[in-house]
Amino acid sequence: MNQKIVIIANWKCNPSTEREAENLLREIKKGIKKIRNTEVIIVPPFVYLPVVRDKILLKSKEGIWKVGAQNCFWENSGAFTGEISPLMLKELGVEYVILGHSERRIYFGETDEVIAKKLKAILENKLSPILCIGETKEGREEKKIEKVLKRQLKEILSPISRFSLPTSDLVIAYEPIWAIGTGDFCSPDEAKKALLFIKKELIEILPRYLSQNIRIIYGGSVDSENAKNYINIGFKGLLIGGASLIPQEFIKIVNSCNLQ
Ligand code: PEP
Repeated sequence: MNQKIVIIANWKCNPSTEREAENLLREIKKGIKKIRNTEVIIVPPFVYLPVVRDKILLKSKEGIWKVGAQNCFWENSGAFTGEISPLMLKELGVEYVILGHSERRIYFGETDEVIAKKLKAILENKLSPILCIGETKEGREEKKIEKVLKRQLKEILSPISRFSLPTSDLVIAYEPIWAIGTGDFCSPDEAKKALLFIKKELIEILPRYLSQNIRIIYGGSVDSENAKNYINIGFKGLLIGGASLIPQEFIKIVNSCNLQ
């Protein structure tokens, strides 16, 4: 059972060149040295995966650095122009895949059904999913939040209760959509209600041995000032977008959570 704090750097469609990606990673690694109970997953655009893997995996003995992908397809190969398969990612040394991010839902029309298909493929390839769930601005009201979280969890996770996840490490990111990239982060009180609700739902949807092993993390305008508040209330990690592109900020976030 992996219960380490996990800090995930989602670089989204940044930076613009491989050289910048290497520099960003170098700066981040320089500032993060002595971490014990924390994992750091770097999730760059697909084209930088090899360079990130080489700099991270081959030179890091500590096992605290991991590589993730931002998306994948649900088939392993075939006539699917433009897609990247989970098998390809596995072969490349990727361990984690972000799934169901709100930007994929909004700009690329991904539905819970599509996300459920991708989840199955990720698990079958022994990769670990980072499943994103969360409500929109219009749904920002306790009862509505619960309704959305319940639907997303049920539709995406119910199918997997039928087969086991022997080697995968399932991470669920609670990401209120209104908090992503806006600076309008979710208060720890509001976030805690969502955390407890998600835990309760997982117990209902999945067999106990699965629900207990899931790490629930928070994402949405996390910075070095607010990061540790989410860890203090029980989240097992953070999904970081904007701040992961600013080395000094990201380093402070990781170091502050590592001290908790
Ligand atoms: C994200 O991309 O999932 C995210 C949380 O972004 P930001 O930290 O910029 O809000």
